[in-house]
Formats: sequence, structure tokens, C-alpha cells
Amino acid sequence: MVRFGPSGNDEKFYAQGHKSSKDVFEWLKQIGLDLYEYSFGRGILLKDETALEFANLAKLNNIEISVHAPYFINLANPNEEQIKKSFDYITASLKKLKLMNGNMCVVHLGSCMKMNREEALQITKKNLIRYMEIYDSIFKDDKLFICPETMGKFQQIGTYKEITDLCTIHDALIPTFDFGHINCILQGKLDKNYYRKSLDYLFDKLGDEKANKLHIHFSKIEFSDRGEVKHLTLDDIKYGPEFEPLAELLIEYKMDNVTVISESKNIMAQDALKLKNMFQSLVK
Ligand SMILES: [Zn+2]
Repeated sequence: MVRFGPSGNDEKFYAQGHKSSKDVFEWLKQIGLDLYEYSFGRGILLKDETALEFANLAKLNNIEISVHAPYFINLANPNEEQIKKSFDYITASLKKLKLMNGNMCVVHLGSCMKMNREEALQITKKNLIRYMEIYDSIFKDDKLFICPETMGKFQQIGTYKEITDLCTIHDALIPTFDFGHINCILQGKLDKNYYRKSLDYLFDKLGDEKANKLHIHFSKIEFSDRGEVKHLTLDDIKYGPEFEPLAELLIEYKMDNVTVISESKNIMAQDALKLKNMFQSLVK
């Protein structure tokens, strides 16, 4: 089953008087969604007891939970002390994810900083291999996946090929394809052919089972010649990308186990529902 949901809380959720994310699971179920991404982007402040409450509420309402690890992570950093901090952020995110009974943790791998791309990529790879040893020592028996994300700025590590290649390192690595970001890197040229190209690469490199678990971020995003500028809503007609050609391919490739997160500005749940409806209208 393809699941759809928002990253964070929709303005409508707050407008209806809700103040705590504890309410969001029932709210999402009521509007017809089944996935929720909780962001640790600016830090991991969620208490363990609240994470456990989330697990119960999510189960009760049939909502699957994913998390987004802090934005400060940078596995391309040449400074060993900073790398250890990045490792700790990933471990802390995974521990909370486990308490929430979720299984996917989205991670931004890093930035080229002042290095050339190849050098930054090699450092990232080396450190990801190191981290997966830590992962094995702590989470070996847990079904937790680390989901490196495709990025929207040229300075960042994370084209769809880089991410897919890095995910061959370990069974617990599954890509997050953020198609809004991919479209920024393509300067607006993400069409059905290119969607197909990226999915073909995914299946080719990672095999059916992993490809089928792909985590998807979808939103329209404004871009400049340096890449991503800001997230928009599905109503945008200038920047793209369009969801329909992707939905057609998910159906054609029988990718019935993927998860689709809307990262639209302010109305992420309402837009997740639009994506779900678009997808379902094509299934029938
Ligand atoms: Zn992200």
C-alpha cells in the first residue's frame, strides 16, 4: 500500500484549535492520510515519554511515522570532532524513531564546503561506512532504515545517482528521492522521461525489494541558478514538478510499498491528500 502524509503540521490543524502534535494522528486519519514525518531538523527535543505516546497514538490511528534527522549533519566535514557529532545526531534520531515505532529516518548527508565534489563525496562515503558499523553495534536487530535524501542545492551532496550509489553500502540504507529537489538541480526539467530514468537507476542498483521501499518527498519548489530557494504548494504553476507522471510510473513499476511525504509550505497535509487523490484516480 502506498502511504501518503505530511511533514509537520498543516495550518488547518492549528486553525481548528489543535496545539499538540499528539492530536495529529487522529486528525490525519480523519482526513484520510496514513503517514506522518516528524522533523528533528532544528534539534532533537522530543521527550522519550512523548515519543512513546506518539507510538501508541499512531498505532491506534493506523499512521506510519518517519523522522527527519537534524540539518546540522555533515558527513563530508573533514573535522573528526564534527563527524562524531553528526554520528551522534543520527544515533539519537534513530533511538527516538525506535520509541515511536517508526522505521525510516531521513538524513541530509552533507555539503561540499570548500572541497571539490569528488573529494567531498569520498569523505561522505568513508564516513557513512564508518557510521553503519556503529549502526550495526546498536540497531542490528531493529528494523530501522536510514534514508539519505537527494538535495536541491548544487553545493550539497545528493544527486539521485550519488544517493542511490551510497545506499548500496548497507541493507539498512534506502534512498529518499525528493523530486522537488531533483527538479531544482534540473532547473525545472523534471519530466516523465527523467522520472523514469531515476527509477530505472534505483531498480538497477538496489534491486526490487529496496527500490520498492523508496521514501519520496514531493513538493513544488522555487529555484534559482544555485538550486533550491523555497518550498511552494501544489497550486504553483511556475516551478513544478508535476506529480501525475510520477504517479503513473509508481503504478507502472508496481511500487506499492513506497511512502510519499508532502513538504508543501503551510498546507502539507491538504497537499498530501491531493497527491493521494491524484494517485488513486489513476489506479482505478
Ligand atoms: Zn530533507
